[in-house]
Amino acid sequence: MNNHIYLDYAATTPVDLRVLNAMLPYFKENFGNPASIHQYGQRAEAAVENARETVAAALNCLRDEIVFTSCGSESDNLALRGTAAAMREKNGANTLLCSRVEHHAVSKTVEQLERHFGYKVKWLETDENGMISPQTVEKAINKETAIVSVMYANNEIGTINPIVEIASICRAQRIPFHTDAVQAAAYLKVDTGLLGVDLMSLSAHKFYGPKGIGVLYIRKNTPIIPLQTGGGQESGLRGGTLNVPYIIGLAEALSLAVREREQRVAHVLPLRDRIIGTTLEEIPESRLTGHPVSRLPNHCSFSFRNVDGNTLLTLLDSAGFACSSGSACKTGNPEPSEVMTSIGLSPEWGLGSLRVTLGASTTPGHVEAFLKILPGLVKKCRGLQSRS
Ligand code: PLP
Repeated sequence: MNNHIYLDYAATTPVDLRVLNAMLPYFKENFGNPASIHQYGQRAEAAVENARETVAAALNCLRDEIVFTSCGSESDNLALRGTAAAMREKNGANTLLCSRVEHHAVSKTVEQLERHFGYKVKWLETDENGMISPQTVEKAINKETAIVSVMYANNEIGTINPIVEIASICRAQRIPFHTDAVQAAAYLKVDTGLLGVDLMSLSAHKFYGPKGIGVLYIRKNTPIIPLQTGGGQESGLRGGTLNVPYIIGLAEALSLAVREREQRVAHVLPLRDRIIGTTLEEIPESRLTGHPVSRLPNHCSFSFRNVDGNTLLTLLDSAGFACSSGSACKTGNPEPSEVMTSIGLSPEWGLGSLRVTLGASTTPGHVEAFLKILPGLVKKCRGLQSRS
């Protein structure tokens, strides 16, 4: 793997050494259960509460508005299922508004709520850049709406949605608004005061923290019931012994992401623009997917006509480059993704998607090496395609 170049930071990121060092004592000498009365427990509890304070400061919210979960998917599930049920109980609201291009952690949850739990779903359509407009939300929202869920930034195509405007529409109607900020948190502002969201999901492994730990921000007084009952942890909203080392790691990673945001953006942005510009210039029948301007600073996504995206990924991997064709979990699926279909791409374009996402260790040398090899591999894929 030493010569491999990793260009898949949207799938996951390596753990920052500073984060790892902050976590290690909580596997060893400070191994206590925060619920225990004795001093081991007290030390662990103090560390968790300290981490909660750090996360609350990063999100500009109250400590008791933070719930630690096991991942971004769990945060999405708790937000949607928990709030939908509480709203239905409160005033009979039974409709879920959800964008067409959500990660499966949201879209599959909403589909199940419709199929098995008696909710109705109204899907919000995007424009050709995969963006949800505030007007689309305004037209669809009404007193029947239990929750609105629109992602902050898209994992496949990097488009950033107008979250502040959408939040303000929901607020005016007193309908809870959830945003999946799993991809956004590494590079965009996650100040809940500024964004005006009621619920926001984050996952540490997208910003140089460990896999298997997430946060759900829940604004005070937002109706919600727990999905996982148990020992009353997390103000009764998520039963289960707290994963102390991972919580410490998440807090450290998030506070670094907030503190170093400007440098991190400044590092990846010119590299992203170099990849986008050169790829579109040098590869015939190529297009950028997602918004050309309102997009994540580390995110390049393309579609190549008459190319099999998975073949391209395999060729890139053999050449030493780790990329993706969309969401990590969708790799291997021969259908164009919902996102490609939603932005209006036909299968001959939609199957040829490529996602290249950059991060802390990406260098101009990596980018040049990648750009040198990509046009030839796309051509090779087209050759293979026409023979099959
Ligand atoms: N939401 C988005 C937008 C994502 O990109 C991902 C992961 O790729 C998730 C949710 C799921 O997060 P996790 O892997 O922590 O469950």
